[in-house]
Amino acid sequence: MTSRLPAVGTSIFTRMTALANSVNAINLAQGFPGFEPDPLLAERLSYHASHGKNQYSPAAGVPELREQLAAKYGYRADTEITVTAGASEALFSAIANVVSPGDEVIIIEPAYDLYVPAVQLQGGIPVFVKMKYPGFSIDWQEVSDSITTRTRLILLNTPHNPTGKVLTAADISALEDIVSRHPQLLLVSDEVYEHILFDDREHLSPGSSPVLRERTFICNSFAKTYHITGWKTGYCLAPENLTRELRKVHQYITFCTFTPAQYALADYLESTTTHLALSEFYRKKKDLFLNALDTEVFRPLPSEGTFFQNLSYAHLSQQPDIDASILLTEKAGVASIPTSVFYADGTDHRILRFCFAKDDETLVEAAQRLNRAGRFL
Ligand code: PMP
Ligand code: GLN
Repeated sequence: MTSRLPAVGTSIFTRMTALANSVNAINLAQGFPGFEPDPLLAERLSYHASHGKNQYSPAAGVPELREQLAAKYGYRADTEITVTAGASEALFSAIANVVSPGDEVIIIEPAYDLYVPAVQLQGGIPVFVKMKYPGFSIDWQEVSDSITTRTRLILLNTPHNPTGKVLTAADISALEDIVSRHPQLLLVSDEVYEHILFDDREHLSPGSSPVLRERTFICNSFAKTYHITGWKTGYCLAPENLTRELRKVHQYITFCTFTPAQYALADYLESTTTHLALSEFYRKKKDLFLNALDTEVFRPLPSEGTFFQNLSYAHLSQQPDIDASILLTEKAGVASIPTSVFYADGTDHRILRFCFAKDDETLVEAAQRLNRAGRFL
């Protein structure tokens, strides 16, 4: 059979997790928390699963959860919020909703692995703009120069996986300028790490700008905020005219999202503010990991947000990052993600991405193993 995605293989996250498990390495590769969610949230899930909340929910999501999200974000529960199967489904639905064959989509690289295949499956054409190495800022002039009459969408991600970069007020105003000049242009903003920010940085969503709000699908998830990546529960916030269209796609991809989780999350959001402590929780983990690390061996890059820390070994070796990542997993017992996989052309800065959403002992042990690992490269 002819493949619709000939360039796509098994995701790097699946491959590195499988390798880590097979050699019993510490898995700092695939991004997922190594700890349990709040017992209250688990209790609420179990409660609703045993109290009659096991059938289809309304396609847009249970009203109680949408009301909680409406209070949090200032979007309308009835017409502007859709609960989805993770941010993945929100992203996929938004892209499928907007992109027609031949449409161009600007993708800022490095880019999360879902974006390119989702665009290509719609017959869209990815147009890549690379963040500037080594600071990973976005050159908005280059973005602007890449826009043609066929450009339909810009895909954004803040805080950014894998660089940890966060959009600033200057980025938002550059976007406002671009969007004002191109009436056909929409934005998809992936904000799954919105509550993990360091050094007093603020999360700035395009949704916070009145100009951009009208043109933006915000795709988000409970996964990183509440340590529940396996629940695959997320949401899309967008103005009414965009939401109406998005729901047409959503109802035929999943129809609705796992009902007991929606009720559990509705209860939980009402009763907690734990997400407000998340930045501090992860800052301590990042500091612990970096303090235990010999930075002459692996050099840390700045991380403004997310639970990823990038480490460079460019001063030690020019070994391709995929090989380096495999070697470190097999020989040093620490798995990471090679960041070249986030570029369509495989741009390789010799940087590996490490997830520090793990318990403290694991992070210290991983750092100690890495300190002894320079000789493998
Ligand atoms: N976007 C980014 C940037 C991610 O890192 C991830 C992985 N959590 C997702 C989207 C997918 O989120 P979810 O698991 O909620 O589908
Ligand atoms: N978002 C996670 C990461 O970047 C992986 C999610 C997945 O495995 N698809 O590591």
